Amino acid sequence: MIDLRSDTITKPTQEMREAMAQAIVGDDVYGEDPTVNELEKTAAELVGKESALFVASGTMGNQVAILSHTERGDEVIVDTAAHIAKYEVGAPAMFAGVQLRLVDDLLLGNTIDKIKKAYREENIHFPVTRLVCLENTFNSGGGTIMPAEKMREAYQLAKDLNLKLHLDGARIFNAAVACQCDVKEFTKYCDSVMFCLSKGLGAPVGSILAGDKEFIKKARKYRKAMGGGMRQAGILAAAGLIALKSIDRLAEDHSNARLLAEGLSQIKGIKVDLERVQTNMVYVEVDNAAAFVAELEKNGVKANAIAANAVRFVTSREVTREDVEKVIQIASRIAGNK
Ligand SMILES: *Cc1c(COP(=O)(O)O)cnc(C)c1O
Repeated sequence: MIDLRSDTITKPTQEMREAMAQAIVGDDVYGEDPTVNELEKTAAELVGKESALFVASGTMGNQVAILSHTERGDEVIVDTAAHIAKYEVGAPAMFAGVQLRLVDDLLLGNTIDKIKKAYREENIHFPVTRLVCLENTFNSGGGTIMPAEKMREAYQLAKDLNLKLHLDGARIFNAAVACQCDVKEFTKYCDSVMFCLSKGLGAPVGSILAGDKEFIKKARKYRKAMGGGMRQAGILAAAGLIALKSIDRLAEDHSNARLLAEGLSQIKGIKVDLERVQTNMVYVEVDNAAAFVAELEKNGVKANAIAANAVRFVTSREVTREDVEKVIQIASRIAGNK
């Protein structure tokens, strides 16, 4: 099977498994796991924040961030298609008790303008606008990159309006690698950032939430409340440390995605917006996504139908260049048979 459903399917490498087996561990709830401590320190430095917290998943990182930035009843500005709004089980309502202010095209449109319009002045009828969440790269946008300059403007505006800015940076390293810049060029424009170790970076489990000391202190307590006090988590953090050494290889996923996108765009009946193929994702438009995906699967290729006429392919270290060439051939055959 060639699995292009997601970069979450990546399995730990031999090097990771060995590091996991040998990890020095302790009780992380007591702050005594040296490997977790090392990962948190390394991660904080990497994204240019004072402090970091190892969390079980990206969803937990985002939710702990929302809990730490807000009070019950506050309003959080977020793109209608953001992961936080679409794919986190309504958790902001469940845990932080906040109201999401869903904004269409917050991320791909004029972000500054959209934030200004969504922001609410003090009024007895209104919730307090407290937080803006951005997402980079933007998953539902096709793995698109929000340029650092756009983030800078949004962060400046957030400060002017006394709002906090959280970055869902599940794939922020994909953005940095694609731009050939330091990840801090993006992360310096937010109060907190979450990124995933378990996607393209290949760790089996875990994400990082980073921010200033006071924020992470709060987040640590909320993580505990959510059941995220993971004790000898150094076993997992050991793989995370290796994952952070393999950031550069994301470039390979990007060139594979580009190859796939260009190949698929040549096929009749498949539409690809090549401009949106900026990292490791390829979204394509077909007449019947479910039928197309079923046909691919019969031919040994897995992809996700994410709407009635949209299919998502994601490249990762589990997929080689030869695999991508095969997928183009198979897709071309299937389309030709219709
Ligand atoms: C995957 C993802 C998350 C959540 O990560 P999980 O570890 O699956 O909970 C958050 N945001 C974005 C943009 C993602 O793609």
